[in-house]
Amino acid sequence: MVDPAELQAKLKALSDSYAAQLPEKLSQIAHAWGQLPKDRWDDGGFQTLHRMVHSLTGSGKTFGFALLSDVARNLEEYLKQLAQAKTVPDEEQRKRIQVLLSELHQVTLHRDAAADDQSGLIAVAPAKQDIASTKRIFVVEDEPEQAEELKIQLGYFGYDVSVFNKLADFQQAMQATSDVVVLMDINFPENSRGGILATKEIQQKRDVPAPVVFLTSNVELDARLEAVRAGGIAYLSKPVNIGNLIDKLDSLTSTLPSAPYRVLIVDDSEALTTYYATVLEQAGMVVKAVNNPLHVMEPLLEFTPDLILLDIYMPECNGMELASVIRQLDAFVGIPIVFLSAESDLDKQLFAMGLGADDFLTKPIQPQHLISSVSSRIQRSLILRSFMVRDSLTGLLNHTAIKDQLDREVAQTKRRGMPLAFAMVDIDHFKKVNDTYGHPAGDRVIKSLSRMLKQRLRETDMVGRYGGEEFAVILSNTNGETALKVLDAIRKDFARLRHLAEGKEFSATFSCGIADVSFFGDSVKLCDAADKALYKAKHAGRNQVVLGHAPPVSGSDFV
Ligand code: GH3
Ligand code: MG
Ligand code: MG
Repeated sequence: MVDPAELQAKLKALSDSYAAQLPEKLSQIAHAWGQLPKDRWDDGGFQTLHRMVHSLTGSGKTFGFALLSDVARNLEEYLKQLAQAKTVPDEEQRKRIQVLLSELHQVTLHRDAAADDQSGLIAVAPAKQDIASTKRIFVVEDEPEQAEELKIQLGYFGYDVSVFNKLADFQQAMQATSDVVVLMDINFPENSRGGILATKEIQQKRDVPAPVVFLTSNVELDARLEAVRAGGIAYLSKPVNIGNLIDKLDSLTSTLPSAPYRVLIVDDSEALTTYYATVLEQAGMVVKAVNNPLHVMEPLLEFTPDLILLDIYMPECNGMELASVIRQLDAFVGIPIVFLSAESDLDKQLFAMGLGADDFLTKPIQPQHLISSVSSRIQRSLILRSFMVRDSLTGLLNHTAIKDQLDREVAQTKRRGMPLAFAMVDIDHFKKVNDTYGHPAGDRVIKSLSRMLKQRLRETDMVGRYGGEEFAVILSNTNGETALKVLDAIRKDFARLRHLAEGKEFSATFSCGIADVSFFGDSVKLCDAADKALYKAKHAGRNQVVLGHAPPVSGSDFV
């Protein structure tokens, strides 16, 4: 959230520091002007002078010196005309420039009264979700065996489950709890609608209703109605299909705050990058500033921004050239690029858009306009991106995306000398599952494995759907031995999971092959090794995890 008072204070401080630097800036401009030879045209010197003046045009108003911006713009326009002619300024032209330069000096004393009033600023950036990312579940069920079974099954998906066999115990516990999802039976020995009544009671006492899912063999409409009125958000019939239940729970608890937006700013003016960074950071974004456009590659690859804000006129390499270079990199074809410049010439703006820019913002820009432009661009591009990289059945990264990710992670790991493990997971005899229980049941097994992998691995690990019933997992900062332990624990729990199809219960297993990056030079070899290890696991009887070894110096069979 933007705290207007805090932001205002920060912007005021930036404006003060800008004001303090102005005399130095003006004397640099005077110096650059004085250095220009009077007897020949010096293109480089003239460009430098133009750029310095242009930078005042763009920054002045932002920091509360609107008049300074205006005079600088006049001077800039005049310099532009001279630059087109490429002839040494004559006496009259020199005088005109002198006049504008001294005007520039005078207007530095004119600071706008309302310069630092940002009180109209509103929060438009992604407000972090307040809802707790709970993984706690209360199961309220009078049948101890059913309750325990549910607890075990949910435990496999990483949920922390407490069981209550008596309504009174549950009500007691709810008084001290806020972030929990309740799975509630309806029929209790004390009352055939006991679960509904108890839910009504606890909801009345709460400011924010607790999420309650009713699990019941009662299929009558009036019971369902009552459940809804009591504040139930879902109603699942028993015996519970664990896949459906996990779907529900995931959607209820998938409120992990999304990672903050990442913005890379490239602008040669340090004062401006600090200003934009302050505004965007205040709105909850993470910002990296680069003042030398030639130094953009490393932050681009390491910081992996969601959007690039690009100045146009910079020494060494201008923003349009930089945009073209960035667009030529496969990994950044889709990244939003927004030009931010004092350039007001529409033709130039259109030209910039033609280079693959997504938007053109004109300096000076209001903080709230900057925040909303940037965040809406990022939001849209992330949605589009997720269509491109996600698998629709499981929501996991698709084949291409996980392979791209592996390339990136392996390259980074090699640079930094960190461990990394890659695992391939394949469900055993899956054809038989489909043939016996039907394709929809097969789909649910795929989904439950994908959920289990996601829930049980760390946020930093990446899970992809590699093929039909095949998954790929990148475990960052993990060596082969540790990955083996982690995946073997998941394997055991997956095998204990009870799936349900048309009233029949069954279980499924998977095999897994793992490779450790320290033995392999690139992602292709690493992938190949994991695949070979998987093959070995299948041949050794399935339902097991095999860690591939380092290749011997000669010979090819290294798993
Ligand atoms: P193995 O233990 O050797 O891996 O045997 P398998 O039967 O699992 O292996 P195989 O690769 O021969 O068969 C995989 C089957 O998975 C074939 C295909 O019909 C099925 N399948 C692939 N994608 C999906 C899907 O999205 N949903 C469902 N239900 N089945 C799928
Ligand atoms: Mg299989
Ligand atoms: Mg297969």
